[in-house]
Amino acid sequence: SPSPASLLTIFGASGDLAQRMLLPSLYGLHRERLLPPGLRILGSARSEFDDAGFRENVAQAIGRFVPAGDLNDAELRGLLERVHYVPATLGDEASFATLGQRIDALREGGDAVYHLSTAPRFYGDICRALGAMDLAGPGTRVMLEKPIGHDLASATAIDDAVAAVFDEARIFRVDHYLGKDGVQNLLALRFGNALFEPLWNARHIQQVQITVAETVGVEGRGDYYDDYGAMRDMLQNHLLQLLCLVAMEPPSHFDPTAVRNEKIKVLRSLRPIGRDEVATETVAGQYAAGAIAGQAVPGYLEELGRASRTETFVAIRAQVDNWRWAGVPFYLRTGKRMPRRSTEIYLQLRQVPHSIFGAAPQPNALVIRLQPEERIELQVMSKTPGLDRGGLQLSPVELDLDMHEEFAAHRRRLAYERLYLDAIEGNGTLFVRRDETEAAWQWVDAIHDGWRATGMLPKPYPAGTWGPSAAATLIDRKGHSWRE
Ligand code: NAP
Repeated sequence: SPSPASLLTIFGASGDLAQRMLLPSLYGLHRERLLPPGLRILGSARSEFDDAGFRENVAQAIGRFVPAGDLNDAELRGLLERVHYVPATLGDEASFATLGQRIDALREGGDAVYHLSTAPRFYGDICRALGAMDLAGPGTRVMLEKPIGHDLASATAIDDAVAAVFDEARIFRVDHYLGKDGVQNLLALRFGNALFEPLWNARHIQQVQITVAETVGVEGRGDYYDDYGAMRDMLQNHLLQLLCLVAMEPPSHFDPTAVRNEKIKVLRSLRPIGRDEVATETVAGQYAAGAIAGQAVPGYLEELGRASRTETFVAIRAQVDNWRWAGVPFYLRTGKRMPRRSTEIYLQLRQVPHSIFGAAPQPNALVIRLQPEERIELQVMSKTPGLDRGGLQLSPVELDLDMHEEFAAHRRRLAYERLYLDAIEGNGTLFVRRDETEAAWQWVDAIHDGWRATGMLPKPYPAGTWGPSAAATLIDRKGHSWRE
């Protein structure tokens, strides 16, 4: 089994993700003494820093992106002492040789983690270079950022290039949603309580909704986004990962093999949606000009500056064809320029079989909210206080577990803190296995193929609304409505 790494190398260390998330996460881990004491951190990108210059850059990023209350000069200096930098340009062998020598020296014979936080088209080149320099043997692991590919064929090409150097057990594919406390809490809720599991099936659950709504548009990232769209950028990875965690069978252990074996079964049970189904089971949208919180915002095409058929919203009625979930719709939706930022999973239970209180009570529901705050709500019916003529009046109340009130002494962590800790220790449970990404692409590719074959185009929706009206129709057909 792997030993804790002695070196973490970040490729793309000058990039946006590194500045906003990766370096602040390492600071958080360092401050709480969670990093192995001797761990060295080596940054690399084309930008010409020396160690001192990069340390300055790291200090600035941490000053900008770590909340002021968590900043501490002595802790920052302690982190900076671990930090090094070597500039390297992909494709320039001489610069890579220098990087390789530095990796070898800093590693001091211990395990090494390589985090590839560059554009995915570089993953194969970086791995090949590491392999050629004999820096990818046992005791090394590689972390890959999304999106791995654009469809199944391109994902397979990237996976093959990485697999030529690292075996699967040493490849850690990041889906940062899996690093969120709230997502892990879903596992705790399901498998650490006896209360929910007996109800967690088609006999008791009427419908499931998974929503990831953003208020932002594509500001400045339009060229990247336009090649992907909502389904590739969000649904193929984050929403399908959440769906797996909601729908999977209880694993027998909390370890990489057991958990991921259950997730892949869910992905393989997804009923394919193809040419004959896209019109009734999917809705694509693209935002037009509108308003968010009273502020006028431009439409997607105006931001992009050209014509485009890329969807910025998608809603899908998915079905998990197995014994547990037969007949239960899993409504998935994600979009940009929605009225509020919100990530949540909503499970609605079935109606009571017989109502003794007059009007049928509202069905119970469990809501697992991940954004903007992490909280779990259980909606139950309760007697309205007071004396009522002619029977009891019921009203819905929410049993509320606000994780941050309950665990007020705990700092809210960045998802990458968990992910780095696990990668450094060699635990892949919260990373995505190759068969998962590929099964997810296969399902998503069929929908894209259906859209193309039937000429289905995204329907416009005004920014600041919950997508095209067809999204409401999609779910209304089964007598359901979106939780808003
Ligand atoms: P970015 O800001 O464009 O950074 C790219 C990094 O790669 C920079 O450090 C850049 O540094 C380096 N680079 C570019 N060309 C290079 C070359 N030829 N040789 C060596 N280094 C090169 O991208 P990012 O937003 O940080 O994203 C990094 C990865 O994370 C991508 O795979 C992205 O899809 C993924 N991701 C990002 C986010 C996010 O919120 N930003 C979220 C999820 C996933 P130099 O210019 O100094 O070379």
